[in-house]
Amino acid sequence: MKLGIVGLPNVGKSTLFNAITNAGAESANYPFCTIDPNVGMVSVPDERLDKLTEMYHPPKTIPAVVEFVDIAGLVRGASKGEGLGNKFLSHIREVDAIVHVVRCFENENIVHVEGSIDPERDIETINLELILSDMELLERRIERSKKLAKGDKKYNEEIEVFERLHAHLEQGKTARTFPEFEEYQELISTVDLLSSKPVIYAANVDENGFTGDEAENRRLEAVRRIAEAEGSMVLPICAQMEQDIATLEDDEKELFLSELGLEESGLDRLIRVCYDLLGLMSFLTAGPKEVRAWTIKKGTRAPQAAGKIHTDFERGFIRAEVISYDDLMACGSMVAAKEKGLVRLEGKDYVMRDGDIVVFRFNV
Ligand code: GDP
Repeated sequence: MKLGIVGLPNVGKSTLFNAITNAGAESANYPFCTIDPNVGMVSVPDERLDKLTEMYHPPKTIPAVVEFVDIAGLVRGASKGEGLGNKFLSHIREVDAIVHVVRCFENENIVHVEGSIDPERDIETINLELILSDMELLERRIERSKKLAKGDKKYNEEIEVFERLHAHLEQGKTARTFPEFEEYQELISTVDLLSSKPVIYAANVDENGFTGDEAENRRLEAVRRIAEAEGSMVLPICAQMEQDIATLEDDEKELFLSELGLEESGLDRLIRVCYDLLGLMSFLTAGPKEVRAWTIKKGTRAPQAAGKIHTDFERGFIRAEVISYDDLMACGSMVAAKEKGLVRLEGKDYVMRDGDIVVFRFNV
């Protein structure tokens, strides 16, 4: 899963991104590391992995990872090439979802590019750049479809849909709020529109923002209203605090959070929200050599899940031996679980469930 962090300058993007890279640097057992300074990896918190590691004592435990891309440089006029404009917009095209950082914290020493703190205006500014860029793309597509329609009438329907979508964008509304979005999702996805990507608004609040002063609460409410109207999610987060938390050891982190009355860090919450938003879940593989979590979309069938591990597993898929995490834990060991008949044999139509522990059997 790849998430892009966007927002106006001085809203806390780099601070959040630093928290992410610090958290990444802290976690052991990295399957890969990265040399791109704008890309950060964090592992998906999953206590099931810890329990399985206690059970199998493997030399390696590999969590699922989320990739964050810091897409700085988006400013008013980006779609017209202001700042580094289009280059940044093209980075957004590559992500699965957008984390839109919105400044809600007040600090006289940190100037806001627009001169005041106003989340509603900021959200509109960024969204408008995405919308303008989408309109251009859509216009080119409509042109092309019109040419093709001369030889083949089947293009007429898509032209009509695209024109209605264009009119919707023209009102300053994002593609994801187009009333016919779901109905024509497949067609619309062929245009790769930026404003069709799912969004999480990360409302960057002050250090004491969770208790909140009145002005900040009002700003947070404004973000919530916008998000609700377009079916997006809001996550109040204090980037500054996340940056501090990310450098702590696990036990210190727990203590720090419990003193604040929190169960998990904002970063962990962000990852969880993104999983929900994108309809993702994890299945697990466990043995004496390795315990590992794999990310798949909800509704994925066994052969495609196997394909996540290796394409040969999918091609030669015979069956999956599956036990739920809870059943395995209740039995205490795989041997006991097998004796009780809790390890199921599942075929190619089996729809994977969150927390399935799997061994795939396949032909080579
Ligand atoms: P960017 O331009 O969006 O990447 O913004 P930065 O992450 O560089 O943040 C701009 C300034 O705001 C920095 O001086 C940060 O220390 C400060 N800042 C970021 N997040 C917070 C926050 O949650 N609370 C406060 N008080 N300051 C913050």
